[in-house]
Amino acid sequence: MKKNTSQTSNLLCVGSIAYDSIQTPFGKVNKTLGGSASYFALASRFFAKSSLVGVVGNDFKKTDIKILKDNADISGLLVAKGKTFHWAGKYHYDLNTRDTLKTSLGVFAGFKPGLNDKQKQAKYVFLGNIHPKLQLDVLKQIDAPKFVGLDTMNFWIDSALPDLKKVIKQINLLVINDSEARQLSGEHNLVKCAGKILGMMAEYHPLAPSYSKRGNAEEGAPLKTLIIKQGEHGLLMFNQNLSLRVHPKQSNQRLPRPSDALGASKDMDIFNLPGFPLEDVIDPTGAGDSFAGALMGYLAKCDDISETNIKKACAKACVVASFCVQGFGISKLDKIKLPDIEKRLTEYKNLINF
Ligand code: AMP
Repeated sequence: MKKNTSQTSNLLCVGSIAYDSIQTPFGKVNKTLGGSASYFALASRFFAKSSLVGVVGNDFKKTDIKILKDNADISGLLVAKGKTFHWAGKYHYDLNTRDTLKTSLGVFAGFKPGLNDKQKQAKYVFLGNIHPKLQLDVLKQIDAPKFVGLDTMNFWIDSALPDLKKVIKQINLLVINDSEARQLSGEHNLVKCAGKILGMMAEYHPLAPSYSKRGNAEEGAPLKTLIIKQGEHGLLMFNQNLSLRVHPKQSNQRLPRPSDALGASKDMDIFNLPGFPLEDVIDPTGAGDSFAGALMGYLAKCDDISETNIKKACAKACVVASFCVQGFGISKLDKIKLPDIEKRLTEYKNLINF
């Protein structure tokens, strides 16, 4: 039976499609369907169906192909000889921190993404957590992206920082967790982290040659957005949009240097949302990816990248991600339906309204 997916497919995601072995204080599962792209697809489906770019090995189960196919466009998914990406992780008692026990790239090690014509037309692009070289390869193939988001993790900050910095310069939105933000910026304080990271994203600017291709000149759209996820505590969003916004009459003005944005907290709008309080958090795996999927799905559905709409998308994404952590792997996310999300969204609104 088809899920309640919207048919919009102007949304593309590259990321891992994995088998995960997860241990939490509440139990464990072995080699269950996971990966950044899988969670992304299952979460975005409530708003916009995504098209996936990725690879699985010939050990990938037919039942798992069916789950992806029911929720996303998988015409761009490759099945290669070898093993599917495998990640194993163990969560600490507070569930906010985890140790990676194993990362086996398997077929991702030799993967060269080749987008089909439809995928090259995507307007909303999410470069999900995977090697930054693959993220760059995918981005290069898109004709005229309107809004590009990116996720990464400590593994890639440690092992592929130069490539990661290249891709960070070409995006609109970066979604990372607090420890990754600290690691990437070398700062402890999150506001300082944000200043530095927005500085790294500085090449993306309305006067830069690539800008005319993006739709970001729209009224109200931030130049650059950083979302720092804080696990059960919610998120902090930093939008850079004030002093770097250039009036058309001043278009002969020089391009601000990246250093102009460093630590420029006066140029940042800061927005904060709490996590949805739950008493049955079981497995946080994929919370970040499902947050990103719902956020990008909502933006793609509305085709509106104004700051106000990004805030709305964040609230919806917090709610979708809250379902993800209530089951091991994708088990809960796969079962919920749009009315479940709408009901919890009402509770969430009550939580933050006073
Ligand atoms: P999250 O809990 O949102 O950080 O995402 C967890 C998912 O990321 C799991 O399903 C893993 O399969 C996947 N994952 C873990 N490590 C990596 C990595 N180095 N590259 C890509 N995906 C990964």
